[in-house]
Amino acid sequence: MPLPTRILLGLLVGAALGAAANVGFGPKSDAVVFLNTWIAGPVGQVFLRLMFMVVMPLVFASIVLGVAGIGDLRRVGRLGGKTLAYFLASTTVAGGLGLVLALVVAPGAALHEAVRAELMATYATDASGKVAAAKAGGVGIETFVAIVTRNPIKSAVDGDMLGVIFFALAFGAALTLIDKERARALVDVLGGINDVMVKLVELAMRLAPVGVAMLIFGVTSRFGFALLRPLGLFAALVLGGLLLHATLLVLVVVRGLVGLSPALFLARVKTALVTAFSTSSSSATLPTNIAVAEDQLGVPAKIAGFVLPLGATMCMNGTALFEGVTVLFLCQVFGVDLSVAQMALVVALTVITAVGAAGVPGGSIPLLVGVLAMFGVPGEGIAIVLGVDRILDMARTTVNVLGDLTCVTLVAKSEGAWDPQHLPTLHAKPLDASPGWPAPDDVAPRGP
Ligand code: ASP
Repeated sequence: MPLPTRILLGLLVGAALGAAANVGFGPKSDAVVFLNTWIAGPVGQVFLRLMFMVVMPLVFASIVLGVAGIGDLRRVGRLGGKTLAYFLASTTVAGGLGLVLALVVAPGAALHEAVRAELMATYATDASGKVAAAKAGGVGIETFVAIVTRNPIKSAVDGDMLGVIFFALAFGAALTLIDKERARALVDVLGGINDVMVKLVELAMRLAPVGVAMLIFGVTSRFGFALLRPLGLFAALVLGGLLLHATLLVLVVVRGLVGLSPALFLARVKTALVTAFSTSSSSATLPTNIAVAEDQLGVPAKIAGFVLPLGATMCMNGTALFEGVTVLFLCQVFGVDLSVAQMALVVALTVITAVGAAGVPGGSIPLLVGVLAMFGVPGEGIAIVLGVDRILDMARTTVNVLGDLTCVTLVAKSEGAWDPQHLPTLHAKPLDASPGWPAPDDVAPRGP
């Protein structure tokens, strides 16, 4: 059975077992607590941590190699410009779509006063941590200044991806300007590091079917579906909006602009989408995403390695849509009326915070709290949505990753570096290889 199918199976089995445990034993029962503490939790965490383990070296190596491989700095600038323009345009559409949907459906009006109080009480402690985090790190001019890292090693240690990306871009640019012979040696070393990281991901992905099952088990066994009921309309609206946006991305960008069949595209990228869904983390999905773009779609390594790390941190379509719906929803719950100008500001803020959010589970929540405060919604109001956030996080992360993949195909095609009509043949490609590893000459060459 090919790996993507096994991962999908893991997802379904884990979700079903978790839901059964939730209904059969109850979310706080000894059995569920035991399974989550001793089995599902640790195994899921090991899988997740293996992905995080490779992210920083991979981001650094792939961006430096991307910039150095493109060579001409003007071309890097053009590629970067296109990539950022796509990020901003698609994220703005997503944030706007979320806002309009919430405006039309008005899910907040339906939430009963008593239910609101109960939800606030249930999640108040959880929320207070997020409120404190939001106070510590709101979005202001300092957020943008801080992208220029003072200490790249500290950025890597702290998981400050934007700082690492900035340093890698600068490093790669300078590398193209020094003596060619000396640059060559460094490029070879970084190419080696890059290959090792990708190989580590391939190895870790063998754990994916089990890891994914355990992660999903943790979610469904603890949360069940009971909480979805009072927040059903809100959750359904976010999920429906995400589906709508994903459809738009696939139809307009993949079919319309790139000229690739949506079914073929989705079949090729499904491993990345399932990984995003089960990890709720763009960062943890990045290694798989790069592997999928290169091996399954055949996007050149220097473009995938440049666009996708930027996308994992900066391009979050799903997050912007979720924020658009949530801000309006909570404004409705707390009786805050927004003017048209304020709504435009909400869209702008969803874009900025989607760029600033870390690609980790719940990464956007502290920033969202900051946005809510700007419109007079008590930060604790986030408590209302935290109960369903895990499900929504899984779905929005999938759309975030889908957005990155649509971007990389569009940019690669527009650069004339990739032909969507000639996707690689799939036999014996690493992510599909099962069992046993492909012979070395089956592995597509990487690096510049
Ligand atoms: N979990 C999301 C991601 O990693 C970020 C968020 O919206 O919380 O893409």
